[in-house]
Amino acid sequence: MIKENLLNIKARIDFICARTGRPSVGITLACVVKNRSVEEIKQALDAGITDIGENKVQEAGLHFNAIRNTRYASGLNWHMVGHLQTNKVREAVKIFALIHSVDSLRLAEEIDRQAARINKIQDILIEVNVSQEESKFGISPKELSDLVAAIRVLKNVRLLGLMAMAPATDEPQKVRVYFRQLRGLLEKVNTECRPKDALVILSMGMSHDFEVALEEGANLVRIGKAIFEV
Ligand SMILES: *Cc1c(COP(=O)(O)O)cnc(C)c1O
Repeated sequence: MIKENLLNIKARIDFICARTGRPSVGITLACVVKNRSVEEIKQALDAGITDIGENKVQEAGLHFNAIRNTRYASGLNWHMVGHLQTNKVREAVKIFALIHSVDSLRLAEEIDRQAARINKIQDILIEVNVSQEESKFGISPKELSDLVAAIRVLKNVRLLGLMAMAPATDEPQKVRVYFRQLRGLLEKVNTECRPKDALVILSMGMSHDFEVALEEGANLVRIGKAIFEV
């Protein structure tokens, strides 16, 4: 089932890319494995997954340790897509290639400090609360420029792009406006910086809305349910 689901998702990604004139090799599919067993994760890896998304550091640690000494480990990228508490950063920088959910300078500074301890440059994204829902994490769009500027001073983090979660809805078309907004914010940030500092990653789109996100310029989609369920 996991293999069929993945083939189906990849075909849908290819279809959108063909229609919008983009190469689908430029799209990263992060397989979100929260609440999944190691067995399920291995099945996804057997089916060709190269990027794993986690939303809790503790669970990620369990998965990471279960996989690290197996044939699955090499070439695998771990993504932190959930909210990150500062007291979990020390563990997080040991695991993750990319942290999607940076939404305060305090968190970015802690990542910088812990990454420096292990001689790492930690790649990060800023999470933006595009829908401005109180229940959602992420910085508000109007605070983005200042946070970008403050983060760029840090030596052991490298800011690569933006991430957002659209509101939950049965109608993916309704969230198009939020994806478009995130893309607009990325373009705005990029007009304010040197070309070499341009943000290049737009992490947006989940099981129910990834096609709309891709149409609006996503190049990293985070998919769980559509891989493991259905
Ligand atoms: C769970 C989760 C996803 C994946 O959602 P699905 O509906 O299972 O595809 C993506 N991003 C974040 C931040 C998540 O927590």
